[in-house]
Amino acid sequence: PVRVRFCPSPTGNPHVGLVRTALFNWAFARHHGGTLVFRIEDTDAARDSEDSYNQLLESMRWLGFDWDEGPEVGGPHAPYRQSQRMDIYKDVADRLLAGGYAYHCYCTTEELDARRDAARAAGKPSGYDGHCRELSAEQISAYEAEGRTSIVRFRMPDEALTFTDLVRGELTFQPENVPDYGIVRANGAPLYTLVNPVDDALMEITHVLRGEDLLSSTPRQLALYKALIELGIAKGTPAFGHLPYVMGEGNKKLSKRDPQASLNLYRERGFLPEGLLNYLSLLGWSIAEDRDIFSVEEMVAAFDIKDVNANPARFDLKKCEHINAEHIRKMDVKAFTEACGPWLKAPIAPWAPEAFDAEQFAAIAPHAQTRVTVLSDITANVDFLFLDEPATDEASWNKAMKEGSDALLTTARAKLADAEWNADALKNAILTAGEEHGLKLGKAQAPVRVAVTGRTIGLPLFESLEILGREKTLARIDAALA
Ligand code: GLU
Repeated sequence: PVRVRFCPSPTGNPHVGLVRTALFNWAFARHHGGTLVFRIEDTDAARDSEDSYNQLLESMRWLGFDWDEGPEVGGPHAPYRQSQRMDIYKDVADRLLAGGYAYHCYCTTEELDARRDAARAAGKPSGYDGHCRELSAEQISAYEAEGRTSIVRFRMPDEALTFTDLVRGELTFQPENVPDYGIVRANGAPLYTLVNPVDDALMEITHVLRGEDLLSSTPRQLALYKALIELGIAKGTPAFGHLPYVMGEGNKKLSKRDPQASLNLYRERGFLPEGLLNYLSLLGWSIAEDRDIFSVEEMVAAFDIKDVNANPARFDLKKCEHINAEHIRKMDVKAFTEACGPWLKAPIAPWAPEAFDAEQFAAIAPHAQTRVTVLSDITANVDFLFLDEPATDEASWNKAMKEGSDALLTTARAKLADAEWNADALKNAILTAGEEHGLKLGKAQAPVRVAVTGRTIGLPLFESLEILGREKTLARIDAALA
């Protein structure tokens, strides 16, 4: 059975790279009818926070992910927060030490630095040199008498390590490039290098799908797995697949700190989870040539890790917006109307709460649904309905109000005053007013639109006027003429 994991560290705002990793693991698990384990890697007390933990869970739920084992749902390998599993790591570290798979290293940072610099200067490999690998009992007592502290270091085998990456194919690491590495700090705190593979082993993870930035830790983990298997702690070694880097502006790796990377930003702008996930799935994967728009269900049905591309993927905000817009178009109009809710309320919406009229909004919503890119676009598109006096955008005013605009507005006002109040009749009123002044419909519309909505661009004008109503329309034209 397939068992995969999503195991972020709660160190801040969730970012899109993290979401892509979660998505690929989730899709892989669901495609294979497997189990998704959600584990929280919160062993770094200085960086992890309860607030980030809660945000992480809430974001996962918002995105629509579910997990079979993990926080809130529990499972046979609980607890799923590493901060609650410290005695497990202590026990494994002790067994690795007892079995000779790991050793105490007493080297100080200064000593390590000096030897590394010397190795570099001599053109030799500059990783840990194995200094404390075979210390005698006397040397150990002498170091302890000096008051030195020690870290626990894992002993890497002196042989090349080869594995077949699910995305990249066969990879080989030479031993001089993978030196012995620390697994427990001097203060007893276990490191990622230990806790992550130990939990993967105990939780019987079969496939590790994670970002390329972690590729260098894979040979270390493979060696550790071998030890864990010999100690009877692991049953086997998972397969590994490393997802490609995501590049941001200027072809630099998208970093957590990039504003474009923040998941919250997408939520605040009103991306749909479906739109965002659709876009993120394309960072290293594709469903078919020339096909960009699909649902998560379609992704799950088609997802094969073999189709993931090893080349870096470029994060393209414009494309992300485009895909989101397509998902908005596809919504059921009622679902769209409801989804706009948060953008129709204070503090985002500039009108008084009592000015909002659900019926008017329901009437205008279908016109907005075919035009907005993100849900937050809705506010500026409908505010003319709910504000007593919509603010006039000065650039729009200057663009639309030409010589002769007053005369056109005066004629249009008179015709609108007499027109039947429906979009067709209103169009006709403005069309004929334009004709009297030698203006095409487009030119005749512009001053009316700015007078009524404050802007030159917006939703279809005649429908907008119909929904706004005669009284307010005429009053705003009067105000523009005053
Ligand atoms: N907690 C690690 C991270 O967030 C997980 C790495 C892994 O998937 O092995 O980077």
